[in-house]
Amino acid sequence: MTPTLAEIRRVPKVLLHDHLDGGLRPATIVELAAETGYTGLPTNDAGELAAWMSQVAQRGSLELYLEAFQHTVGVMQTRDALMRVAAECARDLAADGVVYAEVRFAPELHLGRGLSLDQVVEAVLEGFRRGSASQPGGGPPITVYALLTAMRTAARSLEIAELAVRHRDAGVVGFDIAGAEAGSPPSRHLDAFQYVARENFHITIHAGEGFGLPSIWEAVQWCGADRLGHGVRIIDDLAVPRDGSATLGRLASYVRDRRIPLEMCPTSNVQTGAVASIKEHPIGLLRELLFRVTVNTDNRLMSGVTLSSEFHALAQAFGYGWGDIEWLTLNAMKSAFAPFDERLRLINTVIKPGFATARAALPSRP
Ligand SMILES: [Zn+2]
Repeated sequence: MTPTLAEIRRVPKVLLHDHLDGGLRPATIVELAAETGYTGLPTNDAGELAAWMSQVAQRGSLELYLEAFQHTVGVMQTRDALMRVAAECARDLAADGVVYAEVRFAPELHLGRGLSLDQVVEAVLEGFRRGSASQPGGGPPITVYALLTAMRTAARSLEIAELAVRHRDAGVVGFDIAGAEAGSPPSRHLDAFQYVARENFHITIHAGEGFGLPSIWEAVQWCGADRLGHGVRIIDDLAVPRDGSATLGRLASYVRDRRIPLEMCPTSNVQTGAVASIKEHPIGLLRELLFRVTVNTDNRLMSGVTLSSEFHALAQAFGYGWGDIEWLTLNAMKSAFAPFDERLRLINTVIKPGFATARAALPSRP
């Protein structure tokens, strides 16, 4: 018997890969569109919009998928809108039992109404602070930090890297690049990554999602990625014959030996066509081989997921019990960009006791 969705919601969880513009509440999009004069929505009814958003990912059309982000980003162009979306993000994650999250966004996409890059970051950080300050109903506390994303198809990555470092003491914990992988290798942004490394700051790179091993190799060996966003294509460097024994290539060995965290987002990968189904997702094999695998949501709105529902889907596909879910959660906490003492405190005082309680209540689901 695997844990139920309701049981998974109650254990403390850690989220490292979640996009701020991919997690808005549908009702908030409608209200912000009215407040800010955004007229592009396909409907002004929150229920219909929720249905439209959930169809977008399932239809597998990149155009529709990108249109969905046009709408969310379209209503996130003022200080108040950014603060509200960030605060609601923190509250929604807390309500799902997330105790620590790093949520990413691309400041360069929020300049349409005259905000500066610094003002965008300040508004989001203020929203995270407000949303994590107290939970309705006295739920468990949450810590939410920001990752700043540069668009890999644009040319502002050094500027965004400098922005991230400038706000490091206010709640930004790392730098990321995202966007279409093919044709935009990470090494195009080498100056930004070298700057971040020189500042002793943290790097995660979207790599090995739609594009293969060269992207992962560049991210790790040229750009110094501390973590890989997705990284699913590392599976291409594994040979698994019928007897189930696996042979790792040089890159896969390096990634496993060095404990480089993989920020895996199963449902998102199925919807973008990177993998065929949850059951066939490489996370099953990579977990067995003890890669530093973590479980994440990517875009909660478009994918119609929560972190708990992702764990539940994996539990159903691979028979995961509390032992697996705790292992994946500890992997994520160990891989977070928060300082070591903060990670250790959360592991020892929140995560391990939380899972011990869950186990004691349900000894039949180890
Ligand atoms: Zn992502």
